[in-house]
Amino acid sequence: SRFAEYQLSEEIQRALTVLKYEDPTEVQSKVIPLALENQDLVVKAQTGSGKTASFGIPLCEMVQWEEKKPQALILTPTRELAVQVREDMTNIGRFKRIKAVAVYGKEPFSKQRDELKQKTHVVVGTPGRVLDHIDRETLELDQIKYLIIDEADEMLNRGFIDEVEDIIQALPSNRVTMVFSATLPADIEKLCHQYMNHPTHIEI
Ligand code: AMP
Repeated sequence: SRFAEYQLSEEIQRALTVLKYEDPTEVQSKVIPLALENQDLVVKAQTGSGKTASFGIPLCEMVQWEEKKPQALILTPTRELAVQVREDMTNIGRFKRIKAVAVYGKEPFSKQRDELKQKTHVVVGTPGRVLDHIDRETLELDQIKYLIIDEADEMLNRGFIDEVEDIIQALPSNRVTMVFSATLPADIEKLCHQYMNHPTHIEI
């Protein structure tokens, strides 16, 4: 497949074959090489473009399997998206045995707390519940090296932007940040300017 052009391990390539991802979509061909070089990215892309795998493939490639604490945090505006993204991460990372956990409101806190106690590579969640886990010290952040903000404009529409900012401020500053959004309203541009490291802008 054309995914073979990227620096991806055999485990990840094999998962893409099983998923029948033969050729990268446009957003994937633009994002994957830069993400693998640890660049901060602001990506203007719609749902359906293959954006989830555009960050999921490099994340699954880059996380260290041996590390027990979470290394990647993916913020989504809705529970449904959190569950979907967790599933995509699990599928892409299946042969590397990547463990992804979803945390969101309206599900018992204790169940998520118990999951987070196990080895976890990737945490996907909605801002309010992620903040709860941070405040109650059930989500450890000191090994987080990758932050993905998915559907950033929806975060703004739903009034989650202050919570997103609180989460960013709690994270190690030595990290890679990628923001995905269908549109880039001024408040999102401001957030990117404030908290990202010379991001590359990609428009699909
Ligand atoms: P997304 O934009 O992330 O919601 O992805 C839209 C759909 O495209 C999902 O059902 C993915 O499984 C699928 N998809 C993503 N990347 C590829 C690819 N390279 N080849 C075929 N299907 C893909």
